[in-house]
Amino acid sequence: MSGFSCCSVLTAILAIALAIFVARKLYPRRAIPTENWEGRYTFTYDHLVRPSSLEEIVSTVKEVNERGGELKVVGAGHSWSDIASPRDVMMTLSSYTGIVKVNRKTKEITAKGGTLVSEINEELEKHGLGLSVIPSISSGTIAGTIATATHSTGINYGNIPSYVVELEIVSGTGIVYRANRHSNSEIFNASLVSLGMLGIITEITIQCESAYNLHEVVTLEKAEDVVDRVFDVIKSADHVKLWFEINSGMVQVYRMNRTQESCRNQVIHWVETIRVWILEISAFFMSRFPRVNTVLSPLMVASGRFLPIRDQINYPPYVFNIPFDLPRHPESEYSVPIEQTKDKLIEFMKIAKHYMTKMAFNLAIEIRFVKADHIWMSSAQGRDSAFFTCLTYNPVDEMFMKFIEEVRQLLDGRPHWGKLMLTDTEKHLKPKYPNWDDFLRVRNQMDPKRIFRNEYLERVFPSIYASTAKEL
Ligand SMILES: Cc1cc2nc3c(=O)[nH]c(=O)nc-3n(C[C@H](O)[C@H](O)[C@H](O)COP(=O)(O)OP(=O)(O)OC[C@H]3O[C@@H](n4cnc5c(N)ncnc54)[C@H](O)[C@@H]3O)c2cc1C
Repeated sequence: MSGFSCCSVLTAILAIALAIFVARKLYPRRAIPTENWEGRYTFTYDHLVRPSSLEEIVSTVKEVNERGGELKVVGAGHSWSDIASPRDVMMTLSSYTGIVKVNRKTKEITAKGGTLVSEINEELEKHGLGLSVIPSISSGTIAGTIATATHSTGINYGNIPSYVVELEIVSGTGIVYRANRHSNSEIFNASLVSLGMLGIITEITIQCESAYNLHEVVTLEKAEDVVDRVFDVIKSADHVKLWFEINSGMVQVYRMNRTQESCRNQVIHWVETIRVWILEISAFFMSRFPRVNTVLSPLMVASGRFLPIRDQINYPPYVFNIPFDLPRHPESEYSVPIEQTKDKLIEFMKIAKHYMTKMAFNLAIEIRFVKADHIWMSSAQGRDSAFFTCLTYNPVDEMFMKFIEEVRQLLDGRPHWGKLMLTDTEKHLKPKYPNWDDFLRVRNQMDPKRIFRNEYLERVFPSIYASTAKEL
């Protein structure tokens, strides 16, 4: 090949690559999830639907309803539970995304259901606005995020759905409802935390606030002291979260306050990522070769005491979001009324310490706090709440499952709908939600043929879904 034709081929390849790059930037297409984030549940289905218009969503729902089929909308698939697992039709709103409008005066943003929280953060920044709270990762869809009552931390701040002021939802019969506190108010309340049982949420308007930065200070404190003064600690900053290091008897206390000061000392994300991977690799060896524990455990305890105190001012997504790529792991979470925090923590620590000896060091415990709301199926309904999260990077799954079952019984709380909840059913959940029957009444009206069912719903709500096949 002559030099000239070689050059032409190279130029053509470069031009095609550039065109693909520009097209992807202009018309981004997200990958469709094939399994949930942890990889525990694979998404299997007979039909995949990727609508790009409201009409397509409505006609798909009508078709499934008429033939008595099933339809599950999958968001980003970030739930640890099988709440999003489809069987018949899997719908993804990954082509039904984007910001519909931003109202700077009322500080509200309206986005389509498939929009990622990160996309909302980016848009708000351009307008000098921000979400009041952001979860630990922003790569979930806004509809999936509210469906499971996703929350952050801060005793004077509610969970994400509590900031929603209006939404649009397509019912199981294909009717499009616009709902807010004044119009279709029952549908609104039930749809704010819907577990995907009511319909397809196509548009959401969220109350935001003026842009702010967060001043984050992380200190290492003695677990005993923190538990003893926990009610003061909860109020010691706008947003407080606690990471218990069971082995060392220490707690990392994260305190985050709103500020208008400029960013400084930002945490370097890739350094944090490397630190986490080192922890994970040592956890892997410790759980496979327990003898290594005798050497590594004291080292871990010692290193915990020398953890640097972190002090940064940064944009909220960089502080609320975990600043590293989390290794895949299982996780469960239960909320209890805030006044039970201390007593439950004392008992909880005993169980954690007991399992710690069996599970090596990598049992992580995170405690966060959320303001009460009025949403029927919210884990913070009617009470300020403390959320107890348990996770492990330990490959010994069976042991972790025993642990979280024991924790579930101890806490006797409300589960995070999107985290591992293997034994919870309506029998013991119903007494914990005063408006349980109201929610089911609206559900019945919205989806009479129960097209949004899946295995998770059949397990958790057997009285509604287990008999579906027989009745229809
Ligand atoms: C690393 C990591 C960190 C996390 N951090 C937090 C945290 O800080 N706080 C917290 O509370 N949770 C957290 N979670 C949990 C997670 O963010 C939520 O469970 C959330 O549901 C994920 O959104 P998704 O888009 O992935 O929804 P999916 O998991 O895909 O779906 C969840 C539910 O929403 C329904 N759904 C999705 N889209 C729609 C729609 N358009 N209309 C109606 N229903 C719909 C689905 O059918 C399903 O029932 C975290 C998860 C991970 C993996």
